Amino acid sequence: MNGTKKSSLFSTYGHPSLAFDHGKGSYLFTQDGTRYLDFAAGVAVNSLGHAHPKLVEALTEQASKLWHVSNLFAIPGQEKLAQRLCEVSFAQRVFFNNSGAEAMETSIKTARRYHAHNGVPERNRLITFSGALHGRTLATIAAGGKQQHLDGFAPNMEGFDQIVAGDLDLVRDTISPATAGIIVEPVQGEGGVNVLSPSFLQGLRTLCDEHNILLIFDEVQTGMGRTGKLFAYQWAGIEPDIMALAKGIGGGFPLAACLATSEASSGMIHGSHGSTFGGNPLAMAVGNAVLDVMLEDGFVEDVADMGLYALQKLAALKDGNDDLIEDIRGKGLLLGIQFKEPPAQIIKCLADEHVLSVPAAQNVLRLLPPLNTSRSQIDEAIEALEHALSKYRKRRSS
Ligand SMILES: *Cc1c(COP(=O)(O)O)cnc(C)c1O
Repeated sequence: MNGTKKSSLFSTYGHPSLAFDHGKGSYLFTQDGTRYLDFAAGVAVNSLGHAHPKLVEALTEQASKLWHVSNLFAIPGQEKLAQRLCEVSFAQRVFFNNSGAEAMETSIKTARRYHAHNGVPERNRLITFSGALHGRTLATIAAGGKQQHLDGFAPNMEGFDQIVAGDLDLVRDTISPATAGIIVEPVQGEGGVNVLSPSFLQGLRTLCDEHNILLIFDEVQTGMGRTGKLFAYQWAGIEPDIMALAKGIGGGFPLAACLATSEASSGMIHGSHGSTFGGNPLAMAVGNAVLDVMLEDGFVEDVADMGLYALQKLAALKDGNDDLIEDIRGKGLLLGIQFKEPPAQIIKCLADEHVLSVPAAQNVLRLLPPLNTSRSQIDEAIEALEHALSKYRKRRSS
């Protein structure tokens, strides 16, 4: 029994019983060799699946040379990865972190500092949107504004003005002389795979330009190819001033980054910020190897194609199961099935069919395949979903 089993861990994760021994590509294996199709991908982290040969090689080669030196010394892999990220994005500067929340903290600090550096320190508030997740640190739970994440952790960090997404007039009315910028998660992953419209994102860009404030994209989940472009902002044809990346950027190695224009990062001068582990040689070796694969010809285009293929299949699944399924949505391989009831038992039924998925808000089941998944693996997941839904339906009515 989960609750009664004695554990030395915090109870924050509920002590799941399913454990895996090894992985290969899109599959995970338990110790007794049972195979699972991993469409959870460590919550969009295992962007290239498990045990990708190029990543294993990069990590083991670096592991035998040098693990860590701290940022008191130059780390050539940082310069290389930063330069490459800048070449393929809007950015001119990069700061490396270890997690999404940290990259968001860096983004928030960069925005506040920008205005302070320009002589307007009173411009220090950020507009955020409900339904977004920005992390679990004190600043990022305040930015996210989800009550469950804030409960019991008072006093809440000041400086965030949260409104609903999608209403540009409301954003305009919320901008004040104290506003430093706007933080937006272009596809709200944890929030239920809510794809914000290109016109809304374009409108945010325009408002930021009009008011000389900064546009910050939280692409921790959407970045690094997940939506079928290298970065989700590219779908809207606009560019942010600051962007946080994490999850898929290390393919399973803890790595995150804050990217910014040289203008937006101008306040982050010597001594203003730091990280002990951020950008360490192991992370840089893996990050560069992940980027090698993602920049191969056709990689992100394949993600987009595969996403369209999956959406078609899911639409057909909905047609046959519209007593249970409310909506199908997503972008690239960030896919959501919205159910008419909480999907916990459906996720369990799907795991019984040996396919792993991830819950999200709004009764959504997320499918987050490795980005190099195949059509036949998507077919396999859809077939398992058919089985899981009919078993769930039987179990529920009995
Ligand atoms: C996961 C996530 C975060 C937090 O990342 P951590 O690595 O868990 O700190 C922040 N923003 C978004 C959009 C995420 O999906």
